[in-house]
Amino acid sequence: MTDIEIAQQTKMEKITQIAAKLGLTSDQIEQYGDYKAKIKLTPEQAEKSFGKLVLVTSINPTPAGEGKSTVTVGLGDALTQLHQKAAIALREPSLGPVMGMKGGATGGGYSQVVPMEDINLHFTGDMHALTTANNTLAALIDNHIYQGNSLNLDPRRILWKRVLDINDRALRHIVIGLGSPTSGVPREDGFDITVASELMAILCLAEDLADLKRRIGRIVIGYTYDKKPVTVDQLHVTGAISLLLKDAIKPNLVQTLAHTPAIIHGGPFANIAHGCNSVLATRTALKLADYTVTEAGFGADLGAEKFMDIKAPVLGKTPDAVVIVATVRALKMHGGVAKDQLQLENIPALTAGFANLQRHIASMKRYGVPVVVAINQFTADTAAELAKLQELCQQNNTPAEVANVWAHGGSGALNLAKEVLRLTKQDSQFVPLYQADMDLTAKINQVVTQIYGGQKVEFSAKAKRQLRQFKRRGWDKLPVCMAKTQYSLSDSPKLIGAPTDFAIHVRELVPKLGAGFIVALTGNVLTMPGLPKVPAASKMDLADDGTISGLY
Ligand code: ADP
Repeated sequence: MTDIEIAQQTKMEKITQIAAKLGLTSDQIEQYGDYKAKIKLTPEQAEKSFGKLVLVTSINPTPAGEGKSTVTVGLGDALTQLHQKAAIALREPSLGPVMGMKGGATGGGYSQVVPMEDINLHFTGDMHALTTANNTLAALIDNHIYQGNSLNLDPRRILWKRVLDINDRALRHIVIGLGSPTSGVPREDGFDITVASELMAILCLAEDLADLKRRIGRIVIGYTYDKKPVTVDQLHVTGAISLLLKDAIKPNLVQTLAHTPAIIHGGPFANIAHGCNSVLATRTALKLADYTVTEAGFGADLGAEKFMDIKAPVLGKTPDAVVIVATVRALKMHGGVAKDQLQLENIPALTAGFANLQRHIASMKRYGVPVVVAINQFTADTAAELAKLQELCQQNNTPAEVANVWAHGGSGALNLAKEVLRLTKQDSQFVPLYQADMDLTAKINQVVTQIYGGQKVEFSAKAKRQLRQFKRRGWDKLPVCMAKTQYSLSDSPKLIGAPTDFAIHVRELVPKLGAGFIVALTGNVLTMPGLPKVPAASKMDLADDGTISGLY
């Protein structure tokens, strides 16, 4: 059965019943139909203390698939089976990958969140609200320039781009304002994908409505002709942009196939943004449940690093345990096996590819948090391969448990859940990767050498010039959000496994003062992805009775 068929056959519980499991009454949620709700932002939650936090991350993704969301959901269900009050905190899927290469982001097999069609498509409209808020600001900026430009904005130095939550390569570089003098002032512009936008990062880092407004107000939209930064506050539209997000800021509540509460909110990509669901959602889960299982995007070099260094300081909580998802198949690919040969047992390739997992184990342990490896079992994995991978982890002093959640749901991850319960009882001392008062160069250097295993950082002439400018403007002590390919520890997607002796090339820095970090664009990473030759969209359909197929 396909993921969507399994999801469609499940009888969901009413969302009020799911809310009740977290101690939420019907007054504390806003229902979007029978199976989805938004959780109201209520001050009374402020007094509640935090439960335990489990962060799920993975090795560098390969075309073989890793299954982080699947394991996150399965682990949450396993904790529920072990009579723990658990909640899952995930990101909202973006339509870019849903229609493109990856498919949805609601897990798979018997470890999914439902209603999966709704969550993967328009859900409660958060992505659309963000897209609209973003593009309203773009329109207000261009209108300001057209209507006399009293702020003296230089049209060649506008930082604020338009966005769309679709992979549309044709919109990466565009010219706007063509036609006639009444159609605006012509300038070069471009689109990013919504999940890479600063507003998405702001939504995910804002602590409440006041913080949302503060952050929106300090967004730098561009520079004047004499190169002074201009903010949204100066444009006097902070209130308008904030009110467009008044509902999107509330976390969404749904359920797993086994009816564990799942809070799904915010969805920045981890390669071109900070890759974690919202602080408000995670905080709500931490206050309402004893165990919160959350996921950060792509490999531990991206999402998990940003969780530790960008999200955790705002959240006010660091993980009590980290689960690193690995598969035999993906590690064999890191060990040099081609995709069409993955069904064959290959212990030497698995052993070689283990180097990638080893790097991530080391980088997560560096933060002082307990680590467990979840081996996401695929049907073609042989007993010898699974045993070998466990042995390699043991030799690395790291517990590893086979999880078969795709085939068996929570029952397939009971050992993993027991290990998580054991690890989260241990005392651990979080060790930050960098100190807040270090400058940008030093912070980037720390990420590259300590997390990626690289040798050095090379800045382009433009990036060097920006470092000097940012220092003059007092922006050089902000955290860094690396934009890097997810496929490699380096900035070159083809360097799989565990490369050494490489340099990371920072080509440009983008100030995101509302989000509160500086993005460092490395290699050729793009903030508007493209669609593949055969997009996932080509296999989807809608039957006359409304049944959806081909979504995964
Ligand atoms: P990630 O979160 O790492 O991107 P997902 O959990 O979204 O990965 O899984 C990606 C795809 O792989 C989904 O379609 C899911 O059904 C499939 N998948 C995950 N784990 C397994 C497994 N053990 N066996 C077969 N398919 C799996």
